[in-house]
Amino acid sequence: MTDVYDKEKRSAVMARVGSKDTSPEMAVRRMLTRLGARYRLHRKDLPGSPDIVLPGRKLAIFVHGCFWHGHDCARGARVPKANRDYWLAKVARNTARDEKAAAALGAEGWAVETIWECELKDEAGLADRLASRLALTSRDSAP
Ligand SMILES: [Zn+2]
Repeated sequence: MTDVYDKEKRSAVMARVGSKDTSPEMAVRRMLTRLGARYRLHRKDLPGSPDIVLPGRKLAIFVHGCFWHGHDCARGARVPKANRDYWLAKVARNTARDEKAAAALGAEGWAVETIWECELKDEAGLADRLASRLALTSRDSAP
């Protein structure tokens, strides 16, 4: 078991360099699948085009990189020394856009869950959090 997990984690780290569908978002999708949730990806028709959408539960999930979206954690605070103002302004714009998207989604009756990249360091903890989140939202196909 431990070996499989390590291998999976290692390839996730290696794949991070590549396409949009790898790394943190993929890990979250795997967790949702394990929890039996049905989801859709990158709904461009919704405010902020959420990374993962659970239509039956009206739950929108964003998987955010800590730096790019200004998370209040050690990684999020690590601003490059060169062009500091440029990066800070960029992150501020992203944060403002995220807040606007969350408000717009809320106005349309969607619940919004933000998952930060740093939370994936504790996969078990995050899976627990997702499980209780799913328990709180209504099911689309309850028996
Ligand atoms: Zn973070």
